[in-house]
Amino acid sequence: MRYGQIRQYDIANGEGIRTSIFVTGCTHGCYNCFNEEYQDFNAGKEWTEAETELVVSYVSNINCAGLTLLGGEPFQNVDGLLPVVEAVRQAAPEKKIWAYSGYLWEDIITDSQRRSLLERVDILVDGRFVDALKDPSLRFRGSSNQRIIDVKASLTSNTVVLAME
Ligand code: SF4
Repeated sequence: MRYGQIRQYDIANGEGIRTSIFVTGCTHGCYNCFNEEYQDFNAGKEWTEAETELVVSYVSNINCAGLTLLGGEPFQNVDGLLPVVEAVRQAAPEKKIWAYSGYLWEDIITDSQRRSLLERVDILVDGRFVDALKDPSLRFRGSSNQRIIDVKASLTSNTVVLAME
C-alpha cells in the first residue's frame, strides 16, 4: 500500500479532531476529484510498520477523536489498511474509525474483501463525488448524494442507517 499523507490533526473529515490517512490509488475517476493526484496507485510513499506505529500513537493521544481513512480509495487498499485498523483498534478501542469510499454501501457489503474492512469501521461516507451535487455547506462530505452511514446499525438491521443527515 502507498499513501499520500498522514494528517495528525484533521477537522474536515469526520467528527472531532481526527488523524487521517490518505491512501493512494482510486479507479472511480470522479469529475473534479478533490485529490486527483492520489488516484495514481504509484503516487506517494510506501506504507511501512513505522507509519502504523505513528498512526497508533496519534490516535491514542487523548485529544484525538479517532481515525479517518480516505484517499484515494480505501476499499481498493484493503489488504494494506486491515493491519493498520487492527493495530488502532487494539491500542485505542474506544476511538471511532471513519472511512470514505467512492463505492456505494451496496457495492461494499456484497464484496467479501471490501466488507472485511467495512466491518472494522464505525462510519462509512459512501458514493462518488458528483460535481453537479457539490454543496460546500454539507458537513463531512462533498456532494449531496453521499451518505454518512452508521456501519454497525446498518449491518445489524440489514438496511442503511444514516449516522447524520
Ligand atoms: S472516489 Fe474520491 S479519490 Fe476517487 S476519484 Fe472520486 S473523489 Fe477522487
